Amino acid sequence: MDAAEFRRRGKEMVDFVADYQENIEHRRVYPDVEPGYLRSMIPSEAPLEPESYEDVLRDVDRVIMPGVTHWLSPHFYAYYANSTSFPSILADLLSSGIGTIGFTWAANPACSELETVMLDWLGKMLQLPEDFLSETQGQGGGVIQGTASEATLMALLSARLKTVKCVQESDPQRSEADIISKLIAYTSEEAHSSVEKASIIGGVVIRMVPTDEHFSVRAETLEKMVAEDKATGYIPFFFCATLGTTPCCAFDKIDELGPICNAENIWMHIDAAYAGCAFICPEFRPLLNGVEFADSFSINPNKFLLVGFDCSAMWVKKSADLTRAFQMDPEYLKHEHQGSGWCNHLHQPYSTHKIHWGIPMARRFRSLKLWFVFRMYGLRGLQAFIRKHVELAKTFENLVRGDNNFEICAEVVMGLVCFRLKGSDELNKALLKQITRTGKIYLVPCKLRGRFVLRFVVCGRTTELRHIQEAWKHITELSSELLQNLFDHEGKEN
Ligand SMILES: *Cc1c(COP(=O)(O)O)cnc(C)c1O
Repeated sequence: MDAAEFRRRGKEMVDFVADYQENIEHRRVYPDVEPGYLRSMIPSEAPLEPESYEDVLRDVDRVIMPGVTHWLSPHFYAYYANSTSFPSILADLLSSGIGTIGFTWAANPACSELETVMLDWLGKMLQLPEDFLSETQGQGGGVIQGTASEATLMALLSARLKTVKCVQESDPQRSEADIISKLIAYTSEEAHSSVEKASIIGGVVIRMVPTDEHFSVRAETLEKMVAEDKATGYIPFFFCATLGTTPCCAFDKIDELGPICNAENIWMHIDAAYAGCAFICPEFRPLLNGVEFADSFSINPNKFLLVGFDCSAMWVKKSADLTRAFQMDPEYLKHEHQGSGWCNHLHQPYSTHKIHWGIPMARRFRSLKLWFVFRMYGLRGLQAFIRKHVELAKTFENLVRGDNNFEICAEVVMGLVCFRLKGSDELNKALLKQITRTGKIYLVPCKLRGRFVLRFVVCGRTTELRHIQEAWKHITELSSELLQNLFDHEGKEN
């Protein structure tokens, strides 16, 4: 394909994507395919000779589309949102088109610098303490990680190294292996599975902290566990708080947990992948009070800020904690501005080079997505988007509350409503099975206190009131059928 053909095909592809999104609500949101459906539809080996673009595109319709779950559909209410937007898609096209890789400042100055500034912009939108911003000449700053899972892992590994060094300062004879075998991390029993995964990769023990009646971790509970573990020779070193848990969007009490972590030299990381985005609205910002005690904090703009996947924003208070843990200096990365990078602080010469801030070396130009979206929506536009989702969720909550067959299972704070049919888990599983089988809307379940619960998340950029009303009507129709069948069945048995 030469530039002339790319020009033509590119315009067609933009039309294709625009048509797709404009008409997405007429598609079945959850595909009607069986596992393994695709293999028999394409050859078992890559072609030896080039094929035509028309043939490839034809197969997108024939092979791919029937197996797509349409995440951008207004009928999609599963997981948490993946809220991309047209400016974000265009920024991604530009990033692909430039094809540049920004691991050090010299490898792509614009990429390194825009990322640093965008994380400051976003940090200010969230009213983060100045400690987390890089422009204030403090020691903090932000970085874009691929996912929240990576941000948590980076925090845990940095905390591990910091603690090993700290213990060795007072006890130089003690081996790293011995210290690591005694390290202990904590997170909520409601935390995302990626926290436990980080502890497995980091080779440390993790304990799940029980939550209160609002599914929040409280200071007292953590304090007690830390004391127990210290008494038996363990070294508490890491606590991952969650703001907006995945099952029901609960919030750990970071303002009371933070001081304990600080007093005990426990690194506090805050995983606010979904809910953190809403803290750009002043009415939600109080939920972030206590962030001043945290060592690191992350949100996923790709969940709730109209930025396409992948984009997880992470801030650290002392960037040297991160960069010191992961600094490698091969000869091929040295360059003339090494020691005096643009946003450097004299004592941390490498913080401009994002290679030292994460696992991979190569990094995409992801900050373009933030820049385009922030400028095209403005803070006001992004706030309006979040408020609309929250309002729609409240509407759904009221519909559920107005029906005696159903109950709400957790406080509705943002775009997630946890609900269930009053009755057995089996009944609710049967309802979800019917919903999925019908394919009109898509949602997924969770477990709360051992009970099977349905999660309804307002996800789509184009979700409107009528979609919420339609979804509720659909759910109540299916549930009425189920309840009627159950009633008939019980009647027969009696
Ligand atoms: C979605 C989510 C994650 C996982 O995010 P990835 O970016 O896919 O790793 C982690 N934690 C919370 C609280 C989430 O909501």
